[in-house]
Amino acid sequence: MNLQQLVRKNVWDMKPYSSARDEFKGEASVFLDANENPLNDKYNRYPDPLQWKLKEKIAHIKEIEPEKIFLGNGSDEPIDLVIRIFCEPRIDNIVAIDPTYGMYQVCADVNDVEYRKVLLNEDFDIDAQKIPERADDKTKLIFLCSPNNPTGNLLNRKETEKILNTFAGIVVIDEAYIDFAPETTWISELDKYPNLVVLQTFSKAWGLAAVRLGMAFASPEIIRLFNKVKYPYNVNILTQNFVNGELDKLELRKQWIATLIKGRDYLKNALAKLPFTEKIYPTDANFLLVKVGDANGIYKKLADRGVIVRNRNSVSLCAGCLRITVGTDEENKTLIGTLNSLDL
Ligand SMILES: *Cc1c(COP(=O)(O)O)cnc(C)c1O
Repeated sequence: MNLQQLVRKNVWDMKPYSSARDEFKGEASVFLDANENPLNDKYNRYPDPLQWKLKEKIAHIKEIEPEKIFLGNGSDEPIDLVIRIFCEPRIDNIVAIDPTYGMYQVCADVNDVEYRKVLLNEDFDIDAQKIPERADDKTKLIFLCSPNNPTGNLLNRKETEKILNTFAGIVVIDEAYIDFAPETTWISELDKYPNLVVLQTFSKAWGLAAVRLGMAFASPEIIRLFNKVKYPYNVNILTQNFVNGELDKLELRKQWIATLIKGRDYLKNALAKLPFTEKIYPTDANFLLVKVGDANGIYKKLADRGVIVRNRNSVSLCAGCLRITVGTDEENKTLIGTLNSLDL
């Protein structure tokens, strides 16, 4: 892989913004270089633009070097940046699985980059043959999502490997739900695949969706490109400090995951007993995709009773399906009780 040939020329050639904190790093007694207000101690100083303290801690947990980590305002930020780094608007294109997470296409559309969809098979899995078939010499990125949203399943590892081995561009694997899955992360394969970018987030298993922190893992060369194009202070100090504390809750997080997986099993069994359930798809995430036939009708009746699920009826291959997030034991029971009480 030749990184320079893949990157947009303007991005490769540009000089990134250099902040006061880029130009002077280290200890000093008087800081008069960033036009900060010295009178509001604690939040008056610009935060570390590269969030090193937080990255060191994440690096330790993920068993990876901090230079291979990018942190952004949710996963949404690296999704947008990876397109802006590699795809020339109106010239380059992206290939992605279908159905999948909606933000890939939204970011492609905003950036005026062609977005090509490859339908998953009936098991919601990939065929490594079909994906490169849709790619051409203008395809810079392939987006995979494993476990996939809204289908819930991990993508076949062997097929994914074939894509990583044969595609000349960047392969993005979104692992937002990996903590709920029995398989290990692709992060450990980064040295083997210099064209791999892995996305993870604090929004799901860490229970921090409101805090907005997403992670991208890739080679130091690719991470440097992310850092080049991002807003200088893209992760504020409140988020940096708060997540630093949350990272100490490793044991609690493990318990949360176990609880949610138990809740998932409960929902699976309870949903299977309902007369209108046609199919419950296998899931490796904290949600279930359920085929109910009249998804619109059931969605509406549930909403009228204050129980909101995600109607995926109009999504490719998901006609008649609802996507149900695993809640607390009480919320799960309320859902099942409400479904039982519907006169259908
Ligand atoms: C929820 C989700 C995310 C998380 O996005 P954030 O911006 O980090 O909250 C990323 N990818 C997928 C597939 C998701 O379902």
